[in-house]
Amino acid sequence: MANPIKYKTAVYPGSFDPVTYGHLDVLKRSLNIFDKVVVAVACNKKKPYLFEQSARIELINAVIKEDGGIDSGRINVVGLKGLLVKYVESINAKVIIRGLRAVSDFEYELQLATTNRTLNPDIETIFMMTAEKYSFLSSTIVKEISRLGGDISSMVPSIIAEELSKIYSKGENDETLM
Ligand code: ADP
Repeated sequence: MANPIKYKTAVYPGSFDPVTYGHLDVLKRSLNIFDKVVVAVACNKKKPYLFEQSARIELINAVIKEDGGIDSGRINVVGLKGLLVKYVESINAKVIIRGLRAVSDFEYELQLATTNRTLNPDIETIFMMTAEKYSFLSSTIVKEISRLGGDISSMVPSIIAEELSKIYSKGENDETLM
């Protein structure tokens, strides 16, 4: 029987500022479907990232290397410049993976997917529903909790928790998060 999966490579783009267990779950599940997944780390001048693009790439690579459950040989982590669709075209891929956590993600993701399909109708965006236990999890929440000294060990790999605590242990916490 012919391989039902026509396209072997998928591109998983995002900020990954920093990478969380939610991202890793989507990545692992994508590897169950595709032979190769390219994690494309974005750099949008309008977004105030905590980690530089190069640091976000390094952290993802370090996490993948450490995680015994991920087939690192089938993952490529790259820095994205310019339009995502152009990058996807340049590597002859046809699939973009995005994760969906809640209805609140939907509108933005729909806009993004529709725009990308307008730019190139041959490239399809596939959505993965979050694993229930990560449905609340975002890089923003992780940074907020770490900033205020909370325990993020169930949300991110230890490498990430350590990097965040290095950054936030320097600052004073006189704010409240409820
Ligand atoms: P972006 O700035 O492009 O939204 P993110 O790093 O926040 O970048 O997210 C990248 C992708 O990963 C998005 O499609 C997002 O919905 C998905 N994602 C983030 N966190 C989770 C999670 N906990 N579960 C499932 N998908 C997630």
